[in-house]
Amino acid sequence: MSNSNQHLLAVKQLGVQFQTPDGLVSAVNGINFTLDRGQTLGIVGESGSGKSQSVLAMMGLLANNGSASGQVLYQGQDLIRMPKPDLNKIRGNRIAMIFQDPMTSLNPYLTVERQMTEVLEFHKGMSRKEARTKAIQALDAVKMPEATRRVSMYPHEFSGGMRQRVMIAMSLLCEPDVLVADEPTTALDVTVQAQILILMRELQRDFGTAIIMITHDLGVVAGLCDEVMVLYGGQVMEQGNAEAIFYRPSHPYTAGLLAAVPRLEDGDSPMLAIPGSPPNMARLPKGCPFTERCAMALPQCGTERPVFAPAAHDAAVQRACHLPLEVVTQNLQRLKAQQGVPA
Ligand code: SF4
Repeated sequence: MSNSNQHLLAVKQLGVQFQTPDGLVSAVNGINFTLDRGQTLGIVGESGSGKSQSVLAMMGLLANNGSASGQVLYQGQDLIRMPKPDLNKIRGNRIAMIFQDPMTSLNPYLTVERQMTEVLEFHKGMSRKEARTKAIQALDAVKMPEATRRVSMYPHEFSGGMRQRVMIAMSLLCEPDVLVADEPTTALDVTVQAQILILMRELQRDFGTAIIMITHDLGVVAGLCDEVMVLYGGQVMEQGNAEAIFYRPSHPYTAGLLAAVPRLEDGDSPMLAIPGSPPNMARLPKGCPFTERCAMALPQCGTERPVFAPAAHDAAVQRACHLPLEVVTQNLQRLKAQQGVPA
């Protein structure tokens, strides 16, 4: 049942576990967020942070050894407990997904027209002729040149950027309420990346679609997202208003991710890198999962889990770190000076 007060999507205490040879491994712990029409949430983190598993769990697409806990309420209905046939009617229709590599989701043996018309015949009961017209309109909407001719082409006949446009057009065929985009621009060069992000923003404005953008690149988040969730080791490190987090990160991990975003004004100057590699999820420290890589870690960080709570400096941001913001900012300036990175 839906009512006018509920969010389009409300995710409560979402957890993901995998049965592995090392035992039960938690890949995601207690994620919470809400999303309304026309809003964009960015889920940011390195590979292995749990960002992709979170959305796969929401869509009921976890691998066979995975299981989800918590609630994923779409218009008040819990997707995690929904029977598969009902979930199939929502997935690809009301909630659509696009991936980093369109070739993994497009069928190389079918023309774009056949793949698009199939979706409309299945979800909307359209005739082939109606579906073809709608497919061409969708390709026009993503600014595909000569859409009427190109609709009859096979995926391999398109460039990488054009294939991603085809995927976006396909995902929008049923005018979904939510579009989940998993690293949609990572495989593209910088110019095409920018074009695709502008296109997504325009489509969101025109259709009011809510977007969940999954990315390792905080630069992608700036200008596109309203809210950001920064994940590390399957746990939320910082979450809240995108502008606040982008311009004043209050968590050492977010600060590290931001320092790794190239800025034109910095020219060729070195960037502040986060040393080490993502943690082994089967052997996370008892305390903060970022302890081993954090240049600011305190003695208690490895053993005491920091509380995820509203940041003292900004009610629009929540964070999980033992250090106050002022100390994080001072430490960051010192580290940048040591590494010769502009402040
Ligand atoms: Fe670093 Fe400790 Fe803060 Fe974790 S809690 S980010 S280890 S300072």
